[in-house]
Amino acid sequence: QSTLMSKTKDPYPDWKPGEPVPYAALCTTFSKIEMTTKRLEIMAHCSLFLRQVLRLTPEDLLPTILLMINKLAADYSGIELGIGESLIMKAVSESTGRSLSHIKTEQNEIGDLGLVAAKSRSKQPTMFKPKALTVPGVHRSLIAIATTKEGQGSQSRKVDGIKKLLSAADAHSAGKAVDITKDKGGPSEAKFIVRTLEGKLRLGLAERTVLVALAQAMMFHEMSENGSKVSSTTDLAKAESTLKSVYSELPSYEVIIPEMLKHGILNLPDQCRLQPGVPLKPMLAKPTKSITEVLDRFDGKDFTCEYKYDGERAQIHFVAHDAPMDMATTAPTAGKSEKGVSNIFSRNSEDLSKKYPDILAKLPDWVKDGTKSFVLDCETVAWDMVEKKVLPFQQLMTRKRKDVKVEDVTVKVCVFAFDILYLNGEALVNKSFRERRQHLHKALVPVEGEFAFAKYGDTNELDEIQRLLEESVKASCEGLMVKMLDGPESSYEPSKRSQNWLKVKKDYLSGVGDSLDLVVLGAYFGGGKRTGWFGAFLLACYNPTMQNFETVCNIGTGFSEAILETLHQQLSAIKIDRPKPFYTHSSGNKDQPDVWFEPKYVWEVKTADLTLSPRYKAAADEVGGGGKGVSLRFPRFIKERDDKKPEQASTSRMIAEMYQRQDSVAKTKGPSADDDF
Ligand code: ATP
Repeated sequence: QSTLMSKTKDPYPDWKPGEPVPYAALCTTFSKIEMTTKRLEIMAHCSLFLRQVLRLTPEDLLPTILLMINKLAADYSGIELGIGESLIMKAVSESTGRSLSHIKTEQNEIGDLGLVAAKSRSKQPTMFKPKALTVPGVHRSLIAIATTKEGQGSQSRKVDGIKKLLSAADAHSAGKAVDITKDKGGPSEAKFIVRTLEGKLRLGLAERTVLVALAQAMMFHEMSENGSKVSSTTDLAKAESTLKSVYSELPSYEVIIPEMLKHGILNLPDQCRLQPGVPLKPMLAKPTKSITEVLDRFDGKDFTCEYKYDGERAQIHFVAHDAPMDMATTAPTAGKSEKGVSNIFSRNSEDLSKKYPDILAKLPDWVKDGTKSFVLDCETVAWDMVEKKVLPFQQLMTRKRKDVKVEDVTVKVCVFAFDILYLNGEALVNKSFRERRQHLHKALVPVEGEFAFAKYGDTNELDEIQRLLEESVKASCEGLMVKMLDGPESSYEPSKRSQNWLKVKKDYLSGVGDSLDLVVLGAYFGGGKRTGWFGAFLLACYNPTMQNFETVCNIGTGFSEAILETLHQQLSAIKIDRPKPFYTHSSGNKDQPDVWFEPKYVWEVKTADLTLSPRYKAAADEVGGGGKGVSLRFPRFIKERDDKKPEQASTSRMIAEMYQRQDSVAKTKGPSADDDF
């Protein structure tokens, strides 16, 4: 850090204490990060910049962090970027006076709209120097663009907002040529504004890195304020683990940063705990291939086998009106009843309250009198009111996603609760699962067809587990979730794909271990019955380190005629002229799909096994197959995963692990961290 520090001392002499953070300063840091792939260097650039923010303008720390992680607000706020290419091109054209066709041609050649904007902006000499952009100013403008109300004229209001930002971008350098071949376009503000608008900074800057850099910067800052030096790496490690654990319980920089500035980083756990109203990132499970694998992994320890319901993950938050004040710092807001207020959040922390008003309306009936506040982890499942049984997942998918009215609900749902993370003012995540389950069963009461506790059996007998598995499948479930019951290993690990939760799906017991969730990048026109429609598709997994999509297979099996028709409509709307620069695929002519798409849709896919192929690039670096990637053999479409974003698709590492776990491949297991965070 110190070498970097001396090189980067005060690159912005104009930035005085208390003045807003110059956006140009952030872009300079982005540009340095873009020029390296070394994680430690990326971290050092990030943390040095944050130290400067803390020293000069700590009140801008929040917007700085948000722009670094390319978010405008916490996930549950629903404020998102990801503005379409055509709107941005229009704004670039109008703000620089270059024709739209020119911009489109250049985009086709360069394939990065950020660079096109940088180039266009630098060609435009400015008559007068607009006011320089600041980090809080850019953040405010982006929020205004993202929250423009849909309706007449909304598109042109968005374009106007983008134009304003682009016109003020690079005020200090407009007119100077940007050499996009030399240093990836350098610190151009226009480049980063456009990439931010697209929702992809492409810096290889993971959210986790920013979190660690923030912890380091804060520790250094506090020490230097106190006139002491950070004496050991232990201080830094302590700061990092404190911030990581606080963030995993309360993933909201909006709440954490002000408290951290006020009370110091090491005092955060006293100020910021899990609270109803702020959804946690859910704990996830590792796949297994056989019941004997489960027994091996849990080796003599007590565990429980729960039904794995096939519906939608739902985190339900509730605070009673008469709950003591300290239980409701960020109280939920959506479902108001005579008993209290509640919210439902998705696996991605999106607010699902408008999708499930029927659940929120019934919730007060399940809450026992002494229960004042809670956070539940559940699965919502379509329910057959006549036969009184679970219906297949496909039924649930037919429900409207937004603005559902209770009286219009045709597909009834039943909520199956399997965990409780907070109860009556106390976070339970560090308690054992056995204790959490007892709390869950005491705090709420089942109501037939509305609310139930997940069915389970506490056994470690192979035959008994087999019987439970068969029973669960008969009850329209996907299989079992096997969970550790006691000790620290059974705590709730937010955002982790944990060894302590194993999933056993009936239909992959003899396959590769799990289905995969993959992103559709391209399509091939069909022949015969499929003429005029897409008949096969190119799919990819996600590499979070490189922030790119690596192709993994073509798929043409598992689609009904009706699905193909719907897919054709859906996908035609997101066609693009050429692959994005962050798609990694074979360059062979015959391997190219007929059409490319924006990365938007995630599909669940099953496969017979995995093999290496020069045509695909998934996990090519990790499996070391001489440029060959891992690919799926005989892939089959199962369903669309509209609860997953492309960045939450199966990762390259997951695929590499699956490949290596196959019996035919040497058993060289890599590290198993594979968090969704
Ligand atoms: P999958 O495709 O298997 O659902 P995923 O990536 O969405 O994968 P996993 O962690 O792999 O999530 O599997 C756990 C999912 O199963 C949870 O996200 C939840 O939605 C669902 N589920 C159903 N029943 C249970 C249960 N009893 N305990 C935990 N999760 C359950």
